[in-house]
Amino acid sequence: MKKIKVGVIGVGYLGNFHAQKYAAMKNVDLVGVFDRSIDRAQEIAEICQTKAFADYHELISLVDAVSIVTPTTFHHAVGMDCLAAGLDVMMEKPITVTLAEADELIGLAASKGCILQVGHLERFNPGIMALKHYLDNPIYIESQRVHQFNPRGNDVDVVLDLMIHDIDIILSIVTSPLKTIRTLGASVVTTSTDVATVQLIFENGCAATVTASRIAQTNVRQLVIHQKKSSLIVDYGKKDITVIERSGATTGDGYPVEEATHLPFPDQGDALKAELTHFIDSVQTRKQPEVSGVEGRQALAIALQIIAEMKKHQTAHSL
Ligand code: NAD
Repeated sequence: MKKIKVGVIGVGYLGNFHAQKYAAMKNVDLVGVFDRSIDRAQEIAEICQTKAFADYHELISLVDAVSIVTPTTFHHAVGMDCLAAGLDVMMEKPITVTLAEADELIGLAASKGCILQVGHLERFNPGIMALKHYLDNPIYIESQRVHQFNPRGNDVDVVLDLMIHDIDIILSIVTSPLKTIRTLGASVVTTSTDVATVQLIFENGCAATVTASRIAQTNVRQLVIHQKKSSLIVDYGKKDITVIERSGATTGDGYPVEEATHLPFPDQGDALKAELTHFIDSVQTRKQPEVSGVEGRQALAIALQIIAEMKKHQTAHSL
């Protein structure tokens, strides 16, 4: 099979890793990288033994596919240029800042017959992938993603920066439309929301509480899924997956009979490599990717609804 010619646009923190993963793939020719900072582009090009381009239109004209890893505010403009040139696009998350921008990208990708994948990396998290086998109609989900402060990513609010990962995972796990959203959130050290808790209630009765913070003192990432016959717990920090199975029987003193199994955390798994390999596979086979533009838009739509709800409370507090 012919090698796919790829470029990476935006090689800051995450784009550097995109470029390195592509450079190591046998079926990819990493033609070059572009960054607003030519010094940064040259630094990463050297590491990946590829070319730094000073003009991204020149890079676009030489490749079949691109990763767009610029700050989110540029996703729409750069994405439109690349899709207009007929390129397949791996767009970092969130897909765009607004739904209208996402719709334009999805529409252009469809009319040009281009692949548009969105970088909801957590779908490729080996811990999440290991759970898939145990999913059986979740009824209550608790998700926590709290991080120490990092100056990167603060061009958007914590819901678009961190919580959108969990929204995307929950939407992929619960097969029912969302009915109600309740929110709490506050802006503490930046001008946008830094810490938030959200309740999502689905039409089939499943409920989820989702907490995200970028101002915590320690990092915690945990997902708990309760189902009638089992509870599933992924602790990313402790690298532990626990499956608690219930037979329905009770002990003499009334406790449910439960059996806990600790699964080995698939440590060797590299989520970014799996995500980009999936993208290249979609480019080669022309199959819809696992996280399409439409799914990226769904996660964005809910994230924006949460932000709008939260603004009402924040306004109410300040009155
Ligand atoms: P960053 O600030 O480290 O890097 C962004 C790079 O883009 C910088 O080198 C900057 O010079 C360059 N740049 C800015 N405007 C540009 C333009 N118009 N054209 C080309 N280059 C431009 O940011 P980051 O943390 O790497 O984040 C980049 C994107 O990746 C964001 O959309 C972010 O939300 C996303 N991200 C996703 C995950 C994930 O888990 N999937 C994690 C981190 C970041």
